[in-house]
Amino acid sequence: MKIAVCPGSFDPVTYGHLDIITRACDIFDRVYVAVLTNPAKSALFTPDERVEMLSTATRHLDAVICERFDGLVVEYARLRGAIAIVRGLRAVTDFEFELKMASMNHHLDKEVETVFMMTSNEYSFLSSSAVKEVASLGGNVSAWVPSCVAEALTRKYSHAREAEIS
Ligand code: ADP
Repeated sequence: MKIAVCPGSFDPVTYGHLDIITRACDIFDRVYVAVLTNPAKSALFTPDERVEMLSTATRHLDAVICERFDGLVVEYARLRGAIAIVRGLRAVTDFEFELKMASMNHHLDKEVETVFMMTSNEYSFLSSSAVKEVASLGGNVSAWVPSCVAEALTRKYSHAREAEIS
């Protein structure tokens, strides 16, 4: 059984992430998608909300299990018996950061390979932060995220606007 982990912030999950997760399912028998809490990034959604949206968006993929993990990616990969960490690459701008992470992870655990997948063209400029920016200004994000995420974004930002007014 070939197992992979797809780690990320997924704040929130986009069609770009789902493209990578779906393609990982063609290569691996089981794909664990892990919401990792990154203390350096302030998130809009709680880890549990992010896992819930991921689980809904990947319901049709039998090989996928979504969960949260607080700790090192290599530790998570070891725990799940994974042979690979799958990451998506959008543009050259992602490369330097990803190379650094892959090198550090390789140093920490030589048994786990990092596998990069090039993003599909239509998602190469898609990021969670751009989606949040558009949604916060009331824009329509339904081309970039599943409906459960678009709805959650609308709820978050309408609450924020109500709080601002009162
Ligand atoms: P992180 O905070 O760890 O970078 P993200 O949630 O932003 O996590 O992304 C998780 C993974 O998905 C990363 O490998 C990232 O490169 C990839 N990814 C993000 N957006 C896209 C996209 N539009 N197309 C393909 N891969 C993407």
